[in-house]
Amino acid sequence: MPALGIVGLVVFALVAALLAFRASASAAEASSSPPPPPRASEKAAVTPPSSTPLTRAQLEAKLRRLAETPPPEDLRPGAMCYVMAAQPDTADYTCPKCGQRTHYSKNAAAAEQVREIASMRAQVRALRGVDAALDESSFCSKCSGKASPEPTATLVVNLPDGRQHRTEGISPSDLQLLSEFLAGSVRHGAGQGREEPLLDSVPRIRQLLGLNAATPSK
Ligand SMILES: [Zn+2]
Repeated sequence: MPALGIVGLVVFALVAALLAFRASASAAEASSSPPPPPRASEKAAVTPPSSTPLTRAQLEAKLRRLAETPPPEDLRPGAMCYVMAAQPDTADYTCPKCGQRTHYSKNAAAAEQVREIASMRAQVRALRGVDAALDESSFCSKCSGKASPEPTATLVVNLPDGRQHRTEGISPSDLQLLSEFLAGSVRHGAGQGREEPLLDSVPRIRQLLGLNAATPSK
C-alpha cells in the first residue's frame, strides 16, 4: 500500500522533527544562564555612551531636573564616629606620561594626593556624558619642571562647544559628584556611609563642568 506508506513516513518525520526540536530547546534552556537583573531604569535612560558627550543644553536640562527634584527624604546618616588612622607622609608618584618617579617625603598632604590619584584616574575614565581628562603634571618633577610641594590634580573638561574648562585641586569627592550627577542620581555619597542631597552640590557641579558663566541664575 504505497499511500499508507507515504502517510506513515510523513507521520514519522513529523514526530522525529518534534522530538529533535524539543531536545534542542531544552538543551538551550539548560545551557543559557539566568537573565541579568534589570538595570535601574533611570540609569539606563539617562546614561549615554562615553563617545557622545552631552551638549551644554543637555547638561543645563539635567541640572534643571536635579534642581526641580525634591531631595530624597530617606538619606542615610552614616557612621557618627570613626578613628582616623595615621597616614604615611611619604609617597612615590610615577608619571603615567613620562615615567618619571617623584618622591614626596614629610609632606602628608602631597602623600595623600599621590595615594588618591590612581582612584581619581579611574573615576575620570568612568565618567559618561562628558569628555574629561585628568591633568597630573604638577605631580611630576619632570613634566612640571620642578617638584611642587603642593601637587594638585586638575580636571580638564572639553565642552561640546569647543571650550576647554580646567578646575585645579579637585578631589575624589568632586569626581563622585559628577558621576552621580551624570548618572541621574539625586544623592551624594559623602563618605562613612553618609548621604547628602545632590541638590546641595549643584554650585560645585556647575563649577566643575564650566557652566558657571553666562547662565542666568534661577
Ligand atoms: Zn612626567
